[in-house]
Formats: sequence, structure tokens, C-alpha cells
Amino acid sequence: MIKTPEIVNDIVSAVSEKLGREAISRKVNNREEYFILDLAFSYFQKADRNRRNDYRSGYLYFRHKRKNHLLFVLAHTPIMTSFFKNNFDYEVFRNIIIGTAKYRDENFLRFKINSKNERIKTKNIQEFLDKLDEIKKHRFVKSVFAKDTKGKTGIGNVFGLRLADDLDKNDVSKIIEKSWDLFLWLYPSKPVFKRNASLNRSLQKIENKCESSKIRNLPKAILKTACSGQIEGAHIKPHKDGGSDKLENGLWLCKLHHQLTEGKLEGYRGINTFEVNLKNKRDKKQ
Ligand SMILES: [Zn+2]
Repeated sequence: MIKTPEIVNDIVSAVSEKLGREAISRKVNNREEYFILDLAFSYFQKADRNRRNDYRSGYLYFRHKRKNHLLFVLAHTPIMTSFFKNNFDYEVFRNIIIGTAKYRDENFLRFKINSKNERIKTKNIQEFLDKLDEIKKHRFVKSVFAKDTKGKTGIGNVFGLRLADDLDKNDVSKIIEKSWDLFLWLYPSKPVFKRNASLNRSLQKIENKCESSKIRNLPKAILKTACSGQIEGAHIKPHKDGGSDKLENGLWLCKLHHQLTEGKLEGYRGINTFEVNLKNKRDKKQ
């Protein structure tokens, strides 16, 4: 068995750091290529009736001509593509390309347009951007992520952006940081852990399930509402009001209970203590 290259582990660490939990790497069958992704993607993928086993999404690493290449790839995965498409922001995308330009000699984007495989490949960053802007004129997302009329995968097709073609171990975190939005766009909704990564880390010792039933004086209507959505770290005192990311200010809530109680909680918690309640509306603001 071939040992996973060290730089792949570095990429996994950098992605884990951003996620606030462990990312994974998967070797592509019969190829010296590795995907770095969130295990959650395979659950999303399972929800897709037209799923294929060879779907790809996330960061892709491979060695080519003795150089380390890093790409961001989406392929054969209509469900992930639909999330990506909904979250996609052209200006942010453009800025990622500019921000990572120094890590590659040649710019490269592979995509499908009008059901045809296309690629833009040029060493000149301005030329690259001009070509993208040209597609943008015809609505980038609509064109690049159009419904594919051929094949049974519907929308999906193939999308691959080169981020680095001579990746240095020391630049891994920087590139992940600069391109992180691409990864975040692979989630069904704008994920909260963008700002909650450190809170989630603080909550690691607490069992990862919705703690809404432990909150005191929660209205019956909310209490009776079944959990829904992913379990996420929630601040007792919101971050925007100065709440910390420490364990004492956090609890696990499902997405729905998080939404229903956001900004309405007070109290504190520890490993074995849980003193959290819904703020009494009649109380004067302290
Ligand atoms: Zn819940």
C-alpha cells in the first residue's frame, strides 16, 4: 500500500482547522490523486437519487511533473453542484483566483458550457480573468452550471479550478484560507461554522447532539418541535454581543433549534453543568 504523501496530511490539517473538526482524504482509485473533503459530503451525496459512485468534490491534490498540484473540483455530483451554484458569488470567485495567482504558473479552469467540455488555460492572469468575465456577461452560474440535457446526471458536469501548481508545504494553510469560500459553497446553506469553528472545538467534549431539551423555560411549542438539520455549535450569548467561543458560552443545537433560540438564551455551561435558560422577555435589559 502506498503511503499518503505528507503534504496531503498537511492539507487535511489545514481544512480540519477551518472546519473545527476532522476533514478526511480519499485516494482516487488507480491514481496518485487525493481528494480532501468533509465526510458530510458523502451524506449529502446519499440524498441524490441520480448519484454516481465516482463523484468528486473538494480539494484535489496530485503530483505532476514533480510538482504538487492543488485544484478545487466538482464532478458528477448534481447535488453538490446545486449547493455550490446556490452559494456561488462571482466577485468572491474572481478574488480567490487573484488571491491565489502567485501559487501557480498557469491558470486553468475546466468546465462545461452548453453540454460541451471547455477549458481556459493561460499563464496570463489578466487574460484568464478576461475570459471568465466574458462568460460572466452571459451569466456565469447559469452558463457553467446549466442543466445538462445529455446524460442522466442532469446538472452537475465537471468544474475544476487550479489553485496551485507548485504547492509548497509552507503555503498550504494560506491557500486553504484564501480559497475557503469555494469549500463552504459545497454546503446546503451558508454554514455557520465559518465563525463557529473555535466554538465547535470548545464543545468537543460534549456529546454532539441537540441540547435544546435541557434549556430551562423553553416554550412547549419549541420543545415539542422535532430536531431538524445539522447539529451545530451555538453561542449562549451571541458572538456579536461579545459572547466568547469558550465552552462556558456554548451548546450543541440542531439547526432548527438554533434558529428558534438564537439571541434568546442566557446562562453558562461546563462539562457537567448546564445552567441555560431562555431570557425572560419581561426582564429589563441589563
Ligand atoms: Zn434540536
